Amino acid sequence: MKAARLHQYGKSLVLEEIPIPDIQPDEILVNVKACGLCRSDVLLVDGFFRTYADIPPPITLGHEITGVVAKIGSIVPKGSGFKEGDHVVVAPGWGDGTCRHCQVGDTQICPNVRWPGFGPVGGFAEYIPVPARYLIKVDARLQFEQLAPLTDAGLTPYRGIKKLRDAGALGPDRVVGVFGIGGLGGYAVQYAQLLGSGAKVVAFARNADKLAIATQYGADHVIDIKGKSSADISAELNRVVGQKDLDAIIDCAGAPEMMQLGFSLLAISGHYADVGFIGDRIDIPLFPRVSREQTFHGSFWGNNIDLSEVMALAAEGKIRHSIKVFGFDQLNENLNLLRANEIVGRAVMKF
Ligand SMILES: [Zn+2]
Repeated sequence: MKAARLHQYGKSLVLEEIPIPDIQPDEILVNVKACGLCRSDVLLVDGFFRTYADIPPPITLGHEITGVVAKIGSIVPKGSGFKEGDHVVVAPGWGDGTCRHCQVGDTQICPNVRWPGFGPVGGFAEYIPVPARYLIKVDARLQFEQLAPLTDAGLTPYRGIKKLRDAGALGPDRVVGVFGIGGLGGYAVQYAQLLGSGAKVVAFARNADKLAIATQYGADHVIDIKGKSSADISAELNRVVGQKDLDAIIDCAGAPEMMQLGFSLLAISGHYADVGFIGDRIDIPLFPRVSREQTFHGSFWGNNIDLSEVMALAAEGKIRHSIKVFGFDQLNENLNLLRANEIVGRAVMKF
């Protein structure tokens, strides 16, 4: 089968022919139809994660995976209802199933987690073996190129917004800021409207094309932050929503300067949910965090329940997409475009 693998950090992916993998008795072999390209793929190639997990090559990249059931392991329960030809998405965090995080369903934060696309198996290959419990059957009418990004770009901000909602940070008299309108932010704006219970949604970015996407997806206001001070932006916010700070922030970028801006705009008892990690360090004043009783939420990817909810929204036609489809042979070219920040919306590889 075709597979795109990283053999050496810092180098291009090698597009090669490798054997179709075997499956364990509890696994299902998925014939990959589409796989999204993520900022994390660039970070992985560039060695960003080596401080945290030095994964040995060769690595098959690709973690936004959707496809068709090709073969079912011998102990996959009949009651699970999987059959060959089913359309499926792959839940991204494969836990050990035994720790307390797994027991409550948060397998993506299991200390022994495996992630497809960050080891021997990934979605930039024609086949991938997946433990049956990490597959979700989906409506066969949905398009593969739209399903793929919903397993990360369209899942991660969903969990982040749920955290803000569950913390009581959203509601009719609140303002939620969406920072970073890249692959994830376009979805974040939509979820802020869907789950925000009437909160006003304001998108922040430095790029007019990205702000236009935010407007198209239902942002009540957009603010171009390029070249503006925190005080300027606060004043602009006050003009458009009648308050100079934000009750909640979903940060899809995690860029240090933007995070400093975000914290400077965060209201008393505000909640900041970060799902992005373009940078690795932030320097922010501590006293306002304490005296204003602010809360920071790390939010990582999503669990099976989050993904099932996203699939339900997709099946009802409630999620809109901004997608650029490309072929397997154009993987390296698109990785380079993403590294240069030249992709608007999500780039998705389709076989
Ligand atoms: Zn676990």
